Amino acid sequence: MKNLLHTLQYKLQLFLADRYGQDEMSKYLISAALVLCLVSIFAWGAVLYPVSLAIFAYSIFRTLSKNEAARRRELQWFVRAKSSLASGAKNGLRRFRERKTHSYYKCPRCRNTLRVPKVRGRIEISCPKCHASFERGRGR
Ligand SMILES: [Zn+2]
Repeated sequence: MKNLLHTLQYKLQLFLADRYGQDEMSKYLISAALVLCLVSIFAWGAVLYPVSLAIFAYSIFRTLSKNEAARRRELQWFVRAKSSLASGAKNGLRRFRERKTHSYYKCPRCRNTLRVPKVRGRIEISCPKCHASFERGRGR
């Protein structure tokens, strides 16, 4: 019996030897799959349950994959997407908090977003990046 366990352990070690393993992305995938699975108990089960299984399967596939280069590219994409999502949410929250004191305009020349204090009437705004000037605001 003890010999069989040692043999199984050895075979498992061989199987896992040059696999990619877990990273930040697979942990997020498993968490997302679990959340979707739990939500599927209460609502949209026919859609969410298969989706959660697919996400779980993809996470296992990534963990057991031997193609390290492809998994690292996916991880890079994931980290970039996560940080851009986080900064987008942070900017949206800031805009909402300052909605009564500041306005946001896009520079017509370079598309840079400019944060300007709210004033009555029209104001002339000059872009600090490309130095273009333009007018915004209501009235004359
Ligand atoms: Zn500009």
